Amino acid sequence: MKTIQNIDFNHKKALIRVDFNVPLNENLEVTDATRLEAAIPTIEKVIKSGGSAILMSHLGRPKGKEEKFSLKHVVNKLSDLLGKPVKFVEDCIGEKVQQAVAALQDGEVLLLENLRFYPEEKAGDENFAKELSQWGDLYINDAFGTAHRAHASTAVIAKFFEDKKYFGYLLEKEIVNIEKVFKNNFPPVTAILGGAKVSSKIGVIENILDKVNHIIIGGGMAYTFIKAKGGQIGNSLCEEDRLDFALEILDKAKAKGVKIHLPLDSIIADKFDENAKTKVVPSDDIPDGWMGLDIGPKTAIAYSFVILQSQTILWNGPMGVFEMEKFASGTKEVGLAIAEATRDGAFSLVGGGDSVAAVKQFGLANKVSYVSTGGGAMLEMLEGKTLPGIAAIQ
Ligand code: AMP
Repeated sequence: MKTIQNIDFNHKKALIRVDFNVPLNENLEVTDATRLEAAIPTIEKVIKSGGSAILMSHLGRPKGKEEKFSLKHVVNKLSDLLGKPVKFVEDCIGEKVQQAVAALQDGEVLLLENLRFYPEEKAGDENFAKELSQWGDLYINDAFGTAHRAHASTAVIAKFFEDKKYFGYLLEKEIVNIEKVFKNNFPPVTAILGGAKVSSKIGVIENILDKVNHIIIGGGMAYTFIKAKGGQIGNSLCEEDRLDFALEILDKAKAKGVKIHLPLDSIIADKFDENAKTKVVPSDDIPDGWMGLDIGPKTAIAYSFVILQSQTILWNGPMGVFEMEKFASGTKEVGLAIAEATRDGAFSLVGGGDSVAAVKQFGLANKVSYVSTGGGAMLEMLEGKTLPGIAAIQ
Protein backbone atom coordinates (compact mmCIF):
# COMPACT_ATOMS: atom_id res chain seq x y z
CA MET A 1 0.00 0.00 0.00
CA LYS A 2 1.36 3.43 -0.94
CA THR A 3 1.15 5.22 2.37
CA ILE A 4 2.62 8.56 3.40
CA GLN A 5 4.56 7.15 6.33
CA ASN A 6 8.00 7.32 4.74
CA ILE A 7 7.46 10.20 2.34
CA ASP A 8 9.59 13.32 2.65
CA PHE A 9 7.32 16.34 2.21
CA ASN A 10 10.05 18.95 2.64
CA HIS A 11 9.28 21.94 0.33
CA LYS A 12 6.54 19.88 -1.30
CA LYS A 13 2.97 21.03 -1.91
CA ALA A 14 0.67 18.15 -1.06
CA LEU A 15 -2.79 18.24 -2.63
CA ILE A 16 -5.00 16.32 -0.20
CA ARG A 17 -8.57 15.16 -0.90
CA VAL A 18 -10.23 15.19 2.50
CA ASP A 19 -13.82 14.50 3.51
CA PHE A 20 -15.03 17.69 5.19
CA ASN A 21 -18.67 16.95 4.45
CA VAL A 22 -19.68 17.87 8.00
CA PRO A 23 -23.10 18.80 9.40
CA LEU A 24 -23.74 22.55 9.94
CA ASN A 25 -26.49 24.14 12.05
CA GLU A 26 -28.65 27.08 10.95
CA ASN A 27 -25.89 29.50 12.06
CA LEU A 28 -23.59 27.57 9.73
CA GLU A 29 -21.47 26.24 12.59
CA VAL A 30 -19.97 22.75 12.53
CA THR A 31 -22.05 20.51 14.83
CA ASP A 32 -19.96 17.34 14.53
CA ALA A 33 -16.24 17.72 13.82
CA THR A 34 -15.45 13.99 13.64
CA ARG A 35 -14.49 14.19 9.96
CA LEU A 36 -12.25 17.23 10.51
CA GLU A 37 -10.54 15.47 13.40
CA ALA A 38 -10.05 12.37 11.30
CA ALA A 39 -8.06 14.35 8.70
CA ILE A 40 -5.65 15.96 11.16
CA PRO A 41 -2.96 13.22 11.31
CA THR A 42 -2.37 13.38 7.55
CA ILE A 43 -2.31 17.19 7.44
CA GLU A 44 0.11 17.27 10.38
CA LYS A 45 2.38 14.67 8.83
CA VAL A 46 2.72 16.89 5.73
CA ILE A 47 3.29 20.22 7.46
CA LYS A 48 5.50 18.90 10.25
CA SER A 49 7.84 17.33 7.73
CA GLY A 50 8.31 20.67 5.96
CA GLY A 51 5.61 20.60 3.30
CA SER A 52 2.46 22.60 2.76
CA ALA A 53 -1.06 21.18 2.56
CA ILE A 54 -3.69 22.14 0.00
CA LEU A 55 -7.00 20.67 1.09
CA MET A 56 -9.97 20.00 -1.16
CA SER A 57 -13.38 18.57 -0.30
CA HIS A 58 -17.06 18.69 -1.06
CA LEU A 59 -19.73 19.83 1.38
CA GLY A 60 -23.38 18.88 0.98
CA ARG A 61 -25.22 18.81 -2.29
CA PRO A 62 -25.05 22.34 -3.68
CA LYS A 63 -26.75 23.29 -6.92
CA GLY A 64 -24.05 25.58 -8.27
CA LYS A 65 -22.38 28.10 -5.94
CA GLU A 66 -24.51 28.25 -2.81
CA GLU A 67 -23.18 30.29 0.10
CA LYS A 68 -24.56 27.90 2.72
CA PHE A 69 -22.40 25.09 1.30
CA SER A 70 -19.19 27.13 1.35
CA LEU A 71 -16.25 25.39 2.98
CA LYS A 72 -15.33 28.69 4.62
CA HIS A 73 -17.72 27.60 7.39
CA VAL A 74 -15.27 24.91 8.52
CA VAL A 75 -12.16 27.12 8.58
CA ASN A 76 -12.40 28.24 12.23
CA LYS A 77 -13.02 24.76 13.57
CA LEU A 78 -10.21 23.33 11.47
CA SER A 79 -7.82 26.06 12.63
CA ASP A 80 -8.70 25.26 16.26
CA LEU A 81 -8.04 21.57 15.74
CA LEU A 82 -4.72 22.18 13.98
CA GLY A 83 -3.69 24.93 16.37
CA LYS A 84 -2.72 27.18 13.48
CA PRO A 85 -4.47 29.45 10.98
CA VAL A 86 -5.92 27.85 7.88
CA LYS A 87 -5.97 29.95 4.72
CA PHE A 88 -9.02 29.82 2.52
CA VAL A 89 -9.53 30.60 -1.15
CA GLU A 90 -12.99 31.20 -2.62
CA ASP A 91 -12.60 28.83 -5.52
CA CYS A 92 -11.02 25.48 -6.29
CA ILE A 93 -9.74 26.22 -9.80
CA GLY A 94 -8.62 29.37 -11.62
CA GLU A 95 -6.42 32.38 -11.07
CA LYS A 96 -7.26 33.10 -7.42
CA VAL A 97 -6.27 29.59 -6.49
CA GLN A 98 -3.11 29.81 -8.54
CA GLN A 99 -2.06 32.91 -6.60
CA ALA A 100 -2.93 31.42 -3.23
CA VAL A 101 -1.01 28.24 -4.01
CA ALA A 102 2.02 30.20 -5.25
CA ALA A 103 2.04 32.25 -2.03
CA LEU A 104 1.76 29.20 0.20
CA GLN A 105 4.79 28.65 2.43
CA ASP A 106 6.13 25.42 3.88
CA GLY A 107 4.18 24.50 6.99
CA GLU A 108 1.03 26.33 5.86
CA VAL A 109 -2.44 24.95 5.16
CA LEU A 110 -4.76 26.18 2.41
CA LEU A 111 -8.38 25.06 2.04
CA LEU A 112 -10.04 25.33 -1.37
CA GLU A 113 -13.72 26.10 -1.92
CA ASN A 114 -16.34 23.33 -2.28
CA LEU A 115 -15.49 21.12 -5.25
CA ARG A 116 -19.16 20.46 -5.93
CA PHE A 117 -19.74 24.11 -6.86
CA TYR A 118 -18.65 22.69 -10.21
CA PRO A 119 -20.81 19.88 -11.65
CA GLU A 120 -17.60 18.60 -13.27
CA GLU A 121 -16.56 17.20 -9.89
CA LYS A 122 -19.33 14.60 -9.65
CA ALA A 123 -19.24 14.00 -13.39
CA GLY A 124 -15.61 12.90 -13.03
CA ASP A 125 -14.59 15.43 -15.69
CA GLU A 126 -11.03 14.86 -16.81
CA ASN A 127 -10.23 18.50 -17.63
CA PHE A 128 -11.49 19.62 -14.24
CA ALA A 129 -9.37 16.93 -12.56
CA LYS A 130 -6.37 18.12 -14.56
CA GLU A 131 -6.90 21.71 -13.44
CA LEU A 132 -7.08 20.61 -9.82
CA SER A 133 -3.98 18.49 -10.23
CA GLN A 134 -1.82 21.57 -10.95
CA TRP A 135 -2.00 22.62 -7.29
CA GLY A 136 0.08 19.80 -5.89
CA ASP A 137 3.50 18.24 -6.41
CA LEU A 138 1.87 15.07 -5.15
CA TYR A 139 -1.64 13.81 -4.36
CA ILE A 140 -2.97 12.20 -1.21
CA ASN A 141 -6.42 10.69 -0.96
CA ASP A 142 -7.66 10.72 2.63
CA ALA A 143 -11.39 10.92 1.93
CA PHE A 144 -12.72 7.50 2.85
CA GLY A 145 -16.32 8.79 2.92
CA THR A 146 -16.21 9.43 -0.85
CA ALA A 147 -13.80 6.67 -1.87
CA HIS A 148 -16.71 4.75 -3.44
CA ARG A 149 -17.33 7.58 -5.90
CA ALA A 150 -15.43 7.95 -9.18
CA HIS A 151 -15.39 11.74 -8.97
CA ALA A 152 -12.79 14.13 -10.41
CA SER A 153 -11.01 14.77 -7.11
CA THR A 154 -11.34 11.27 -5.65
CA ALA A 155 -10.33 9.05 -8.54
CA VAL A 156 -9.86 10.70 -11.95
CA ILE A 157 -7.20 13.12 -10.67
CA ALA A 158 -4.84 10.29 -9.69
CA LYS A 159 -3.79 9.69 -13.29
CA PHE A 160 -2.03 13.07 -13.35
CA PHE A 161 0.33 12.09 -10.54
CA GLU A 162 1.88 8.90 -11.94
CA ASP A 163 3.75 7.45 -8.95
CA LYS A 164 3.27 10.51 -6.73
CA LYS A 165 -0.07 9.47 -5.24
CA TYR A 166 -0.65 8.07 -1.80
CA PHE A 167 -3.18 6.90 0.76
CA GLY A 168 -3.55 9.29 3.68
CA TYR A 169 -3.51 7.90 7.22
CA LEU A 170 -7.30 7.80 7.48
CA LEU A 171 -7.81 5.90 4.26
CA GLU A 172 -5.00 3.54 5.21
CA LYS A 173 -6.57 2.89 8.63
CA GLU A 174 -9.98 2.19 7.13
CA ILE A 175 -8.55 -0.33 4.66
CA VAL A 176 -6.38 -2.07 7.26
CA ASN A 177 -9.26 -2.35 9.74
CA ILE A 178 -11.77 -3.66 7.23
CA GLU A 179 -9.17 -6.23 6.17
CA LYS A 180 -8.84 -7.26 9.81
CA VAL A 181 -12.45 -8.39 9.65
CA PHE A 182 -12.30 -10.34 6.41
CA LYS A 183 -8.74 -11.19 5.49
CA ASN A 184 -6.46 -11.20 8.50
CA ASN A 185 -9.12 -12.30 10.95
CA PHE A 186 -9.26 -14.67 13.90
CA PRO A 187 -12.31 -16.97 14.19
CA PRO A 188 -15.01 -17.09 15.34
CA VAL A 189 -16.00 -14.16 13.14
CA THR A 190 -19.39 -12.61 13.85
CA ALA A 191 -21.22 -10.04 11.74
CA ILE A 192 -24.04 -8.16 13.43
CA LEU A 193 -26.43 -6.62 10.94
CA GLY A 194 -29.40 -4.43 11.75
CA GLY A 195 -31.23 -1.37 10.55
CA ALA A 196 -34.46 -0.91 8.74
CA LYS A 197 -34.13 -2.79 5.48
CA VAL A 198 -32.84 -6.08 4.14
CA SER A 199 -32.68 -4.58 0.66
CA SER A 200 -29.84 -2.19 1.58
CA LYS A 201 -27.75 -5.05 3.00
CA ILE A 202 -28.21 -7.73 0.33
CA GLY A 203 -24.77 -7.26 -1.20
CA VAL A 204 -23.14 -7.34 2.23
CA ILE A 205 -24.93 -10.49 3.35
CA GLU A 206 -24.05 -12.31 0.14
CA ASN A 207 -20.41 -11.32 0.34
CA ILE A 208 -19.85 -12.14 4.01
CA LEU A 209 -21.42 -15.60 3.90
CA ASP A 210 -18.04 -17.02 2.87
CA LYS A 211 -16.13 -15.08 5.49
CA VAL A 212 -17.95 -15.34 8.81
CA ASN A 213 -19.06 -18.00 11.29
CA HIS A 214 -22.08 -16.17 12.71
CA ILE A 215 -24.51 -13.59 11.39
CA ILE A 216 -26.64 -11.90 14.02
CA ILE A 217 -29.67 -10.14 12.58
CA GLY A 218 -31.66 -7.45 14.36
CA GLY A 219 -33.60 -4.29 13.59
CA GLY A 220 -36.48 -4.03 11.16
CA MET A 221 -34.74 -6.30 8.66
CA ALA A 222 -35.11 -9.31 10.97
CA TYR A 223 -38.87 -9.46 10.40
CA THR A 224 -38.53 -10.19 6.70
CA PHE A 225 -36.52 -13.29 7.68
CA ILE A 226 -39.00 -14.27 10.38
CA LYS A 227 -41.96 -13.92 8.03
CA ALA A 228 -40.12 -15.88 5.34
CA LYS A 229 -39.81 -18.73 7.86
CA GLY A 230 -43.56 -18.67 8.46
CA GLY A 231 -43.71 -16.43 11.55
CA GLN A 232 -46.47 -13.94 12.39
CA ILE A 233 -44.95 -10.47 12.45
CA GLY A 234 -48.05 -8.26 12.80
CA ASN A 235 -47.36 -4.79 11.47
CA SER A 236 -43.57 -5.00 11.76
CA LEU A 237 -41.42 -3.80 8.87
CA CYS A 238 -41.36 -6.33 6.08
CA GLU A 239 -40.10 -6.31 2.52
CA GLU A 240 -42.46 -8.70 0.78
CA ASP A 241 -40.29 -8.73 -2.34
CA ARG A 242 -37.31 -9.99 -0.31
CA LEU A 243 -38.94 -13.01 1.29
CA ASP A 244 -37.44 -15.37 -1.29
CA PHE A 245 -34.04 -13.77 -0.86
CA ALA A 246 -34.29 -14.29 2.90
CA LEU A 247 -35.07 -17.99 2.47
CA GLU A 248 -32.28 -18.39 -0.03
CA ILE A 249 -29.79 -16.81 2.40
CA LEU A 250 -30.95 -19.07 5.23
CA ASP A 251 -30.43 -22.12 2.99
CA LYS A 252 -27.04 -20.96 1.73
CA ALA A 253 -25.87 -20.21 5.25
CA LYS A 254 -26.89 -23.68 6.39
CA ALA A 255 -24.99 -25.26 3.51
CA LYS A 256 -21.88 -23.25 4.34
CA GLY A 257 -22.09 -23.91 8.08
CA VAL A 258 -22.73 -20.24 8.91
CA LYS A 259 -25.07 -19.81 11.86
CA ILE A 260 -27.72 -17.14 11.33
CA HIS A 261 -29.24 -15.83 14.55
CA LEU A 262 -32.71 -14.26 14.43
CA PRO A 263 -34.52 -12.54 17.30
CA LEU A 264 -36.27 -14.94 19.70
CA ASP A 265 -38.35 -12.24 21.33
CA SER A 266 -39.21 -8.64 20.47
CA ILE A 267 -40.32 -5.50 22.20
CA ILE A 268 -43.49 -4.69 20.33
CA ALA A 269 -45.44 -1.44 20.23
CA ASP A 270 -48.97 -0.50 19.21
CA LYS A 271 -47.63 2.47 17.26
CA PHE A 272 -44.33 3.89 16.01
CA ASP A 273 -44.04 6.32 18.87
CA GLU A 274 -42.06 6.96 22.05
CA ASN A 275 -45.36 6.88 23.99
CA ALA A 276 -46.63 3.65 22.48
CA LYS A 277 -47.92 0.80 24.62
CA THR A 278 -45.31 -1.98 24.65
CA LYS A 279 -44.95 -5.64 25.53
CA VAL A 280 -42.49 -8.47 24.99
CA VAL A 281 -43.58 -11.42 22.83
CA PRO A 282 -41.93 -14.16 20.75
CA SER A 283 -40.69 -12.56 17.51
CA ASP A 284 -42.68 -15.01 15.37
CA ASP A 285 -45.93 -14.41 17.20
CA ILE A 286 -46.60 -10.69 16.92
CA PRO A 287 -50.30 -9.80 16.92
CA ASP A 288 -51.87 -7.72 14.17
CA GLY A 289 -51.77 -4.02 14.94
CA TRP A 290 -48.44 -4.38 16.78
CA MET A 291 -44.92 -3.96 15.46
CA GLY A 292 -41.51 -5.15 16.63
CA LEU A 293 -39.34 -2.13 17.37
CA ASP A 294 -36.49 -3.75 19.32
CA ILE A 295 -35.06 -7.15 20.13
CA GLY A 296 -36.35 -8.52 23.43
CA PRO A 297 -34.37 -9.34 26.61
CA LYS A 298 -33.94 -13.07 25.81
CA THR A 299 -32.54 -12.19 22.41
CA ALA A 300 -30.18 -9.61 23.90
CA ILE A 301 -28.77 -12.29 26.21
CA ALA A 302 -28.48 -14.85 23.39
CA TYR A 303 -26.78 -12.34 21.07
CA SER A 304 -24.41 -11.18 23.82
CA PHE A 305 -23.42 -14.80 24.42
CA VAL A 306 -22.43 -15.25 20.76
CA ILE A 307 -20.60 -11.90 20.72
CA LEU A 308 -18.61 -12.72 23.85
CA GLN A 309 -17.35 -15.91 22.21
CA SER A 310 -16.22 -14.12 19.07
CA GLN A 311 -12.69 -13.05 18.23
CA THR A 312 -13.63 -10.81 15.31
CA ILE A 313 -16.78 -8.68 15.26
CA LEU A 314 -18.34 -6.47 12.63
CA TRP A 315 -21.33 -4.31 13.53
CA ASN A 316 -23.46 -2.49 11.00
CA GLY A 317 -26.97 -1.33 11.85
CA PRO A 318 -28.97 -0.92 15.09
CA MET A 319 -31.01 -3.71 16.71
CA GLY A 320 -34.08 -1.51 17.09
CA VAL A 321 -35.36 2.05 16.95
CA PHE A 322 -32.58 3.17 19.30
CA GLU A 323 -33.42 6.84 18.75
CA MET A 324 -36.40 6.28 21.09
CA GLU A 325 -35.46 5.33 24.63
CA LYS A 326 -38.12 2.62 24.91
CA PHE A 327 -36.58 0.76 21.98
CA ALA A 328 -32.88 1.41 22.63
CA SER A 329 -32.02 -1.38 25.06
CA GLY A 330 -31.33 -4.09 22.45
CA THR A 331 -28.85 -1.89 20.59
CA LYS A 332 -27.26 -0.84 23.87
CA GLU A 333 -26.89 -4.44 25.14
CA VAL A 334 -25.29 -5.52 21.88
CA GLY A 335 -22.95 -2.52 22.05
CA LEU A 336 -21.99 -3.37 25.62
CA ALA A 337 -21.30 -6.99 24.68
CA ILE A 338 -19.06 -5.84 21.82
CA ALA A 339 -17.21 -3.53 24.22
CA GLU A 340 -16.73 -6.40 26.67
CA ALA A 341 -15.52 -8.79 23.98
CA THR A 342 -13.10 -6.09 22.79
CA ARG A 343 -11.77 -5.61 26.32
CA ASP A 344 -11.15 -9.36 26.41
CA GLY A 345 -9.09 -9.24 23.22
CA ALA A 346 -11.50 -9.46 20.30
CA PHE A 347 -11.19 -7.11 17.32
CA SER A 348 -14.34 -5.09 16.67
CA LEU A 349 -15.23 -2.81 13.79
CA VAL A 350 -18.31 -0.60 13.88
CA GLY A 351 -19.49 1.18 10.74
CA GLY A 352 -22.48 2.79 9.11
CA GLY A 353 -24.12 6.05 10.16
CA ASP A 354 -26.62 4.66 12.65
CA SER A 355 -24.36 2.19 14.43
CA VAL A 356 -21.74 4.91 14.79
CA ALA A 357 -24.41 7.22 16.24
CA ALA A 358 -25.44 4.39 18.60
CA VAL A 359 -21.94 3.70 19.96
CA LYS A 360 -21.52 7.44 20.53
CA GLN A 361 -24.92 7.71 22.22
CA PHE A 362 -24.02 4.89 24.62
CA GLY A 363 -20.49 6.17 25.26
CA LEU A 364 -18.89 3.10 23.66
CA ALA A 365 -16.92 4.70 20.81
CA ASN A 366 -13.62 4.29 22.68
CA LYS A 367 -14.44 0.75 23.76
CA VAL A 368 -14.54 -0.83 20.33
CA SER A 369 -11.43 -1.42 18.21
CA TYR A 370 -12.34 0.81 15.29
CA VAL A 371 -15.18 3.09 14.26
CA SER A 372 -15.35 3.58 10.50
CA THR A 373 -15.93 7.12 9.23
CA GLY A 374 -17.62 6.19 5.96
CA GLY A 375 -21.12 4.72 5.72
CA GLY A 376 -21.63 4.07 2.03
CA ALA A 377 -17.93 3.47 1.35
CA MET A 378 -17.70 0.91 4.12
CA LEU A 379 -20.82 -0.91 2.91
CA GLU A 380 -19.34 -1.16 -0.57
CA MET A 381 -16.11 -2.57 0.83
CA LEU A 382 -18.13 -5.08 2.83
CA GLU A 383 -19.87 -6.00 -0.42
CA GLY A 384 -16.43 -6.94 -1.72
CA LYS A 385 -16.27 -4.11 -4.25
CA THR A 386 -13.09 -2.32 -5.18
CA LEU A 387 -13.62 1.37 -4.47
CA PRO A 388 -12.61 3.75 -7.31
CA GLY A 389 -10.78 6.07 -4.88
CA ILE A 390 -8.67 3.16 -3.67
CA ALA A 391 -8.12 1.57 -7.06
CA ALA A 392 -6.90 4.90 -8.49
CA ILE A 393 -3.98 4.90 -6.07
CA GLN A 394 -3.16 1.22 -6.28
P1 AMP B 1 -30.51 1.62 8.17
O1 AMP B 1 -30.43 3.01 7.61
O2 AMP B 1 -31.09 0.62 7.22
O3 AMP B 1 -29.22 1.16 8.82
O4 AMP B 1 -31.59 1.71 9.33
C1 AMP B 1 -31.41 2.48 10.49
C2 AMP B 1 -32.77 2.83 11.04
O5 AMP B 1 -33.50 1.64 11.24
C3 AMP B 1 -32.71 3.53 12.37
O6 AMP B 1 -33.17 4.83 12.20
C4 AMP B 1 -33.65 2.71 13.24
O7 AMP B 1 -34.54 3.51 14.00
C5 AMP B 1 -34.44 1.89 12.26
N1 AMP B 1 -34.93 0.65 12.83
C6 AMP B 1 -34.24 -0.25 13.53
N2 AMP B 1 -35.02 -1.27 13.93
C7 AMP B 1 -36.26 -1.00 13.47
C8 AMP B 1 -37.51 -1.68 13.57
N3 AMP B 1 -37.63 -2.84 14.22
N4 AMP B 1 -38.57 -1.12 12.97
C9 AMP B 1 -38.46 0.06 12.30
N5 AMP B 1 -37.30 0.74 12.18
C10 AMP B 1 -36.21 0.21 12.76
